[in-house]
Amino acid sequence: MNGKVALVTGGSRGIGRNIAKVLAGEGYNVAITYNSNEELAKEVVKELEHSGVKAACFKANISIKDQVDNLIREIEKELGSVCVLVNNAGITKDNLLIRMSEDDWDSVMDVNLKGAFLTTKAVARGMMKKRYGKIINISSVVGVMGNAGQGNYSASKAGLIGFTKSMARELASRGIRVNAVAPGFIRTDMTDSLKEEVKEAMLLNIPLGYFAESEEVSNLVAFLASEKSDYITGQVIQIDGGMNI
Ligand code: NAP
Repeated sequence: MNGKVALVTGGSRGIGRNIAKVLAGEGYNVAITYNSNEELAKEVVKELEHSGVKAACFKANISIKDQVDNLIREIEKELGSVCVLVNNAGITKDNLLIRMSEDDWDSVMDVNLKGAFLTTKAVARGMMKKRYGKIINISSVVGVMGNAGQGNYSASKAGLIGFTKSMARELASRGIRVNAVAPGFIRTDMTDSLKEEVKEAMLLNIPLGYFAESEEVSNLVAFLASEKSDYITGQVIQIDGGMNI
């Protein structure tokens, strides 16, 4: 990849960690961010370096502008300007509308939607100068179909889809491609915390009949990051075992 730099937000765990690993395997120098768990992030950096690329981790709360601007400056100093941005960091604070607090609404919006706005804005100038860039937003199938008990989360992920399409139109003339990936049920810490009966009920709605591993999402992200997908922009690609056909 001739020193191309990829940034994966929330790359310390789950899907983001695996995306970082697959991109490092493809030869990108990879920056990951974490929010709380430094030890884990450092472990991931070592794992990425095994692929023979440069890797670094940065602590940043992606919902805070100053931290994001500082993050991009640090990455540019240490690895170079970002060519592939994967907006992966995300949180859930599930509840039915009646029980959902304003804080639960705001924090999910701030991380999942505002975070992607801040990182995209911070890397866009560098990509525009190079007249090339790939932005991949990790949305969710519930951003397309909705889900009871996830009003905040599904709204943030639907917002991310609107943002993806707008940025694809706005940045296309500068050679920047922007796409979204909408996973269904992927085995990570985020889904491990669900009750067994909830998981069983979800499985009944998945025609392929199984939950996916992070790697399936990572392979799709790697394709969208590569030149092989250069004629694709503004798309939302569902990877959900047929959950939303
Ligand atoms: P996860 O295992 O809970 O990992 C979340 C990652 O985001 C962690 O690295 C975490 O860092 C980071 N993070 C959280 N808040 C942050 C903040 N304010 N600033 C910066 N980083 C922050 O989640 P996952 O299951 O891998 O999900 C990854 C993405 O896929 C999310 O956007 C999620 O909505 C989406 N998704 C997941 C599924 C699924 O079934 N798992 C399905 C559809 C979509 P720390 O560990 O340091 O806190």
